Amino acid sequence: MTQIAFIGLGHMGRPMAHNLVKAGHQLTVFDLVPEAIESLKQAGAQPALSAKDAVNNADVVITMLPASRHVEDLYLDEDALLDSIQPGTLVIECSTIAPESARRVAQAAAEKGLRMIDAPVSGGTGGAIAGTLTFIVGGAAKDLEDAHPLLEIMGKNIFHAGEAGAGQVAKICNNMLLGVLMAGTSEALALGAANGLDPKVLSDIIAGSSGRNWTTELYNPWPGVMPDVPASKDYDGGFGVDLMLKDLGLAAESAVATRSSTPLGELARNLYSLHSKQGSGHLDFSSILNLYRK
Ligand code: NAD
Repeated sequence: MTQIAFIGLGHMGRPMAHNLVKAGHQLTVFDLVPEAIESLKQAGAQPALSAKDAVNNADVVITMLPASRHVEDLYLDEDALLDSIQPGTLVIECSTIAPESARRVAQAAAEKGLRMIDAPVSGGTGGAIAGTLTFIVGGAAKDLEDAHPLLEIMGKNIFHAGEAGAGQVAKICNNMLLGVLMAGTSEALALGAANGLDPKVLSDIIAGSSGRNWTTELYNPWPGVMPDVPASKDYDGGFGVDLMLKDLGLAAESAVATRSSTPLGELARNLYSLHSKQGSGHLDFSSILNLYRK
């Protein structure tokens, strides 16, 4: 049994922490939102009063926060949490953040004798609940080996992308593609519906044809086509438009830094930006369909 501090209990962190508790691990949990802590407390986790309180006596620290700013504030700046974690502790940072940010925090952690890996995830809230996430890891192979038993509880596929920050680079590439695929799928479904097709019938055709992709298989954006996806729940839960916009922004920054051409990623970023400005930032990213439908 490992003593784990889990910080950040939102759409993803909450079910991930639940799975660790179910597997018999001792969790101390913290989030800025008290209701999130309460739900884990009911599942058997120990509530903490602060992030510092949570990492007391932890063998492993796991964080699942929104963006680079939150991660840097927590570990380096506002909370300076690295100062409160015992040397030798393994830190598993699962948020999707800028590779540069991940490297900065990992470097600071190493200077304090801590072991840190970036381990962003893919698979959405469904994967987090089912414990079938994909972990895309950057950091030392030995640290990944030590993290493996815990990652296996929360996920199904575990990849080692390279050194610190490499997990984030791979994750950003994946999400840029996902943003493009979701917008493209929405565009195709809206075109078919405008020309008289039933979106469910068209979705089945695409899912069995060459336009098939993750969104037509598991995360259809058209309401009612699939049960239990955000599109069938008024785009509630899931992966927020503003989080997708953040990831497409990270892709754009990485492209500028390396003089790479990402025209489709940039177009998708503009679409999600427009959608967010129209008041949909809090909805699941599959709601991008509404840009084409309305
Ligand atoms: P979320 O906004 O639902 O959850 C983030 C949580 O972090 C919130 O509960 C917030 O209160 C908490 N938090 C923020 N700052 C904190 C601090 N200083 N101390 C303690 N708690 C703090 O976000 P999410 O959907 O769970 O996503 C988390 C990360 O995972 C993001 O980086 C996102 O890009 C990535 N991600 C999300 C999905 C998805 O489908 N939602 C899929 C893959 C990856």
